[in-house]
Amino acid sequence: MEQLTQAMQTILGTGTIGSWVNGSIIHGSGETINLYHAEDESLLTAYQDADASIAATIDEAAKVAQQQWWALTAKERGRILYQVGAEIRHHADTLGFVECINANKPLNNAKAEVIIVAEMFEYYAGWADKLHGEVIPVPTSHLNYVKYEAMGTILQFTPWNAPIFTAGWQVAPALAAGNAVILKPSELTPITSLMLGALIEKAGAPKGLVSVVSGYGHTVGQTLIANNDIRKICFVGSPNTGAHISMAAAKRCIPCVLELGGKSANIVFDDANLDSAMKGAMAAIFGGSGQSCVSGSRLLVQDTIFDKFVAAVASAAQQIRVGAPLESGCDIGPIQNRKQYDHICRLLDIGTKEGATIAQNVQPIAERKGLFINPTVLIGDNQMTVAQQEIFGPVVVAIPFKDEADAIAIANDSEFGLAGAVWTNDVARAHRVADQVKAGTFWINSYKTIHVSSPFGGYRNSGHGRSSGLEVLREYSEVKSVWVETAPQPAFSFNYGTVEG
Ligand code: NAD
Repeated sequence: MEQLTQAMQTILGTGTIGSWVNGSIIHGSGETINLYHAEDESLLTAYQDADASIAATIDEAAKVAQQQWWALTAKERGRILYQVGAEIRHHADTLGFVECINANKPLNNAKAEVIIVAEMFEYYAGWADKLHGEVIPVPTSHLNYVKYEAMGTILQFTPWNAPIFTAGWQVAPALAAGNAVILKPSELTPITSLMLGALIEKAGAPKGLVSVVSGYGHTVGQTLIANNDIRKICFVGSPNTGAHISMAAAKRCIPCVLELGGKSANIVFDDANLDSAMKGAMAAIFGGSGQSCVSGSRLLVQDTIFDKFVAAVASAAQQIRVGAPLESGCDIGPIQNRKQYDHICRLLDIGTKEGATIAQNVQPIAERKGLFINPTVLIGDNQMTVAQQEIFGPVVVAIPFKDEADAIAIANDSEFGLAGAVWTNDVARAHRVADQVKAGTFWINSYKTIHVSSPFGGYRNSGHGRSSGLEVLREYSEVKSVWVETAPQPAFSFNYGTVEG
């Protein structure tokens, strides 16, 4: 596709996909990886899996660049990160276009996500020179202070559903804390991550500070975990792969932050503002065609309003305009890839076999060519496979509940704990429910808003560690406690200090 080639050339200096290493693209020679347009499954472009030998080059480049980066003043690092934001804003149209056709998401959504990525760098630019330590009032004659230091090289894995958004979310704080990054985006959506790597260097970061590797997880991804001098892994993706990566990391005693899947409960009480709750329920699951980790994929509705409310959501869902990513006026796009589309179809099939009914008799599989699934409301119960497994598509399971205790019990009857929400006008109940639902992010009379300034992460099988806010800067820092003796004639002890009293 000529437009894609031109867009890539603008930022990468080449129109073909490889890995971004030390200021240029290195092409792989492994298996061919094909990328497709989801609206008709025609070929977009293809590239070769990165060679395992790339790992050593990246390792060395990252070490050298990290030392240069750490040698700058914190203020200088902050300035460069702020400039990354400016570069992203300057190239927003190009990045948005590429994200649209590679991630198969509507152009407007793709552009909006790009601007948010600029904000992420601007936000962490501000933190770079504010990561100061603390002085602890220890009960001895010492001055004890705590320093936060860069860890070294951080390895990050990202999925295909929001490629540049997730890359920015992970890379910006790791750099702000003084680290180098090796980014392994999904093999299906590497292009905007490569462009981000190039723009970070253009903004003034040392060559090699951010490397972006294009290829499979089970090939070059595993090589990076096994061989490179990495100090931490941040993985965003499915629970199965997360467990696999954790095991590989454990063999090398490397800690992980895991950002995994979800099956979040969106709870609607009968005293809620039902118009807002209905709009919220739609945004919660159908935005991004449901390919969002925080999707409100279980819609828990109080039994007194269940039939009416679910019917309203189902009929409003039919007004959502489903279209090809570049089609003007579409609200949601196709499913990003064939494997995910087949997974959704399989779960829909299991759902109906287990007795779930489809509200308003909507046909989930769109009649048009391509990987399109219509926004679908299933009516079922919480024990069904569709209520327990992540569908990661525009399919919500509506489940009735009796009262507050019942709603909380159903919400927590899940292996996941990523997000959740409650809709009610009873302020005390809203807080009780927020307290008791086991989830890393919870909304009251709202859904889906997240911001890089607020901590994000999961409970239970949705992962551990946090990947935004101040919390992530601690994730990406080593903590050093320094003890300075201040007594003129210090007492020495064979114990861990002087015992008093
Ligand atoms: P995935 O687990 O298949 O892949 C994620 C990344 O891991 C990709 O870069 C992939 O190449 C790599 N990978 C795959 N197998 C690997 C292996 N054996 N070794 C090393 N790396 C490997 O996930 P996906 O299908 O790309 O994304 C969808 C999933 O991501 C969903 O479960 C969704 O909930 C989750 N997700 C979570 C969040 C969050 O923040 N919690 C955000 C977005 C998506």
